[in-house]
Amino acid sequence: MLHQQARATKPAAHATRASQTFTGNRGLDLEDPLIFEIGRSEVTGVDVDAPATTKTRLGALERTDPIGLPGVSEPEAIRHYVRLSRMNAAIDANIYPLGSCTMKHNPRLNEKMARLPGFGDVHPLQPQATVQGALALIDALAKNLLNLTNMSAVAMSPKAGAHGELCGLMAIKQAIITRGEEKTRRVILVPDSAHGTNPATAALLGFEVKSVPGDADGDVHLDAAKALIGPDVAAIMLTNPNTCGLFERDIVEIARAVHDAGGYFYCDGANFNAIVGKVRPGDLGVDAMHINLHKTFSTPHGGGGPGAGPVVLSARLAPYAPVPFIVRDGDALRLVEHTEGTQSFGRMTAFHGQMGMFVRAYAYILSHGADGLRQASEDAVLNANYVRACLADLMSQPFGERPCMHEALFDDAWLKGTGVTTLDFAKAMIDEGYHPMTMYFPLVVHGAMLIEPTESESLASLDLFVATLRDLAMSAKRGETERFTGAPHLAPRRRLDETGAARKPVLKWSPPVPIRDAAE
Ligand SMILES: *Cc1c(COP(=O)(O)O)cnc(C)c1O
Repeated sequence: MLHQQARATKPAAHATRASQTFTGNRGLDLEDPLIFEIGRSEVTGVDVDAPATTKTRLGALERTDPIGLPGVSEPEAIRHYVRLSRMNAAIDANIYPLGSCTMKHNPRLNEKMARLPGFGDVHPLQPQATVQGALALIDALAKNLLNLTNMSAVAMSPKAGAHGELCGLMAIKQAIITRGEEKTRRVILVPDSAHGTNPATAALLGFEVKSVPGDADGDVHLDAAKALIGPDVAAIMLTNPNTCGLFERDIVEIARAVHDAGGYFYCDGANFNAIVGKVRPGDLGVDAMHINLHKTFSTPHGGGGPGAGPVVLSARLAPYAPVPFIVRDGDALRLVEHTEGTQSFGRMTAFHGQMGMFVRAYAYILSHGADGLRQASEDAVLNANYVRACLADLMSQPFGERPCMHEALFDDAWLKGTGVTTLDFAKAMIDEGYHPMTMYFPLVVHGAMLIEPTESESLASLDLFVATLRDLAMSAKRGETERFTGAPHLAPRRRLDETGAARKPVLKWSPPVPIRDAAE
């Protein structure tokens, strides 16, 4: 009864909802309060006997206050989380065209393999003799990554792209320290189109970041880069294909220039999905590159983790790779876990990395084969160019008609005078059931819209997406401003105060003050 009262008074509290129903539901889109608002801490959804009195061994550390969890029945708990899951945009629900993020389909075969007990149930503290199969899988995945990149060593333990950047630059820093040049090589060059994690990583390690401008075609400006490359440069961090979705045409020349000046070439490999099987970064002169398994090898993107961002290293940097790494001892594989007797810069993580992600990535590689991996890259590029070509007459492109790699970049010049911004356009996509594309990134393009369909979208799915964007674009040009500035009209929540949410996040639910207390 209490629950029903809570639900019945709920809709009035959400004044932002576009059209009201009694429940706050919109057809299959069910309104759902917080679980603390549905449940009550004094009731429980399970029936267990009171525990026998036991002697605590926690000293005085045991909890004495009630834990305060909401009590709900099993069906209530299940419905709550199913309803929440339906509020998520998801790659399993629709095309998820978030550029640079490469929201690839997660094959179910990978999931099945990751759940095999021999992989799913291993513990990182098990004796190595009992996990030889798991070590063999890590080793086999590592060899595949080295083959695909033509590099010498790979650090498997970093847990995301940004963590991989840190790992790569730590290897570079260690190499520079070993050369006795840590006082003089202080600069990391970063193009102004780079992902924010690049300059952040360099700054975190105490380097001075110098920005390299781009040219009118969307490449790094070759002469500007060369003018900045000198004996003070530790490394250049370059993304290829870059964040404008373009293959850096001067990459080999830039690599040569930085090597001639005694520096290293870090490649941000977040966009590797466009070139796997076509180009080996080692052939371009790369010294270190992270591989986002969640962007290129189909492991799930998971709310900040668990992720995996292995880092491949050139022969020049291989000696400085972090522990642990795998070596072969006769017939057995062994993890080298300590730095003694090595030149390793140290350790990035506790344990060995994300086993579940390694299994999924390896399953993806084996199920595709060399030809399949190459075709996935080709299809990713084909799909992006299809979207680009189908929208080119309506939406402006910052670098003209130049073919793109795996993502198509538009700017907001075509929206001039419509009263609609990139943000408004993105919000209107939510009403159409699409997660918006990446917007306002890269920073070098005004009102950027970066669309990445990935390789697994069918022609039918791309055609519907294109038709939807064309309809929205023509609507904006016709002056139907309210469709955009008020959007999303159909989502459970409208526009949020994103700055407020980021600056003053409310991370804890507090019980409302009981009426009796409030009156006193
Ligand atoms: C995603 C991305 C990163 C960071 O990778 P995470 O795995 O999210 O930490 C770095 N650079 C570029 C270009 C990216 O797209």
